[in-house]
Amino acid sequence: MKLERPDARGRYGTFGGMYAPETLMPALFELETAFTEAWSDDDFHAELDHLLRTFVGRPTPVFRAARLSDRLGVDLWFKREDLAHTGAHKINNTVGQGLLAKRMGKPRVIAETGAGQHGVATATACALFGLECEVYMGEKDIERQALNVYRMQMLGTKVIPVTSGAGTLKDAVSEAMRDWVSSVETTHYIIGSVVGPHPFPWIVRELQKVIGEELQQQMPADGIPAPEVIVASVGGGSNAMGIFYPYAADGGVELVGVEAGGLGLASGKHGASLGVGSPGVIHGSMTYMLQDDFGQVLEAHSVSAGLDYPGVGPEHAYFKDEDLVRYESVSDDEAMEAFHLMAQTEGIIPALESAHALAWIVNEADQLRGRTVVLNLSGRGDKDVQQVAALYD
Ligand SMILES: *Cc1c(COP(=O)(O)O)cnc(C)c1O
Repeated sequence: MKLERPDARGRYGTFGGMYAPETLMPALFELETAFTEAWSDDDFHAELDHLLRTFVGRPTPVFRAARLSDRLGVDLWFKREDLAHTGAHKINNTVGQGLLAKRMGKPRVIAETGAGQHGVATATACALFGLECEVYMGEKDIERQALNVYRMQMLGTKVIPVTSGAGTLKDAVSEAMRDWVSSVETTHYIIGSVVGPHPFPWIVRELQKVIGEELQQQMPADGIPAPEVIVASVGGGSNAMGIFYPYAADGGVELVGVEAGGLGLASGKHGASLGVGSPGVIHGSMTYMLQDDFGQVLEAHSVSAGLDYPGVGPEHAYFKDEDLVRYESVSDDEAMEAFHLMAQTEGIIPALESAHALAWIVNEADQLRGRTVVLNLSGRGDKDVQQVAALYD
């Protein structure tokens, strides 16, 4: 059964919770109260809906992928989050949380970013609302993602290099949380996915579920058959949760989350926390994660930076154990092939994350024959063009 809200301790069954330093607990409770009030306030919803329409460009269209449908023998549709402002679903969350920061009277926002997509979406929301913004980013990622670093700077955000650990996303999350412990009075932390201690997974799910709610209305309104299968990529899990949540426990729709299989599950170089990870605590939450025998976090690997994360949102862990969603994975190579397939067959260069979802559909085309399948096209691939080009040089 899906839960409206996690329980009083912020749990989804045994997952979730608030594994946070003592000094952060008051801030987490303050945030929970503030969001609960905002979310039941019609004025907050009116302002957010207006911005989603006029700034973000919602509702995003539903597109029939006619040539791929013919080719795969599947009735295939795309939910076009790639057409949202800044090129992905992440803006749904940052505009909502930016509005919340303003309502809470916090003039400063911090965030973590891996490839820079969440950093850009946060910088964008902060410019929109006139909030001071600092983004933690691993130094290795700063090198790999120079374009997004410039973008954040152009939007008036300060990018802070993180040199601890491997200098990637999980280290940036840790640094951002450290900052927050000493700055909660003035600062709101915008986390980038349905991860972290309660109330973050719940807030981000509520802000992203607009994707699935739109889809529920659009398909009948446009005379489109109801989806039988919905497929989305899973990094932290926010685009998947956003499209799955309204359909979860509905029974009629099969939900499939696709994790990064990287170089193969047997290689140990992947991001399949749900597929082959085990329950543990990461970034303030009990969930499936990649860990060693001592509970130390292992490095994830994926060709796609957005899926290169060793944990996953706790509500996905709950959905997995409740059998509400199937979690699968595809390899880097399969995702790369699907990237080209979508570009050449539909005229859409997808984000490498979204290409994982298409790769699973390609692999399972025989099983899916004749069924109506919706792929959550979480983002556009402009950000990945250079990386893909380099691999084919
Ligand atoms: C960040 C990102 C993802 C992965 O994050 P989730 O929280 O799992 O959605 C997927 N697709 C795109 C385009 C992204 O930018």
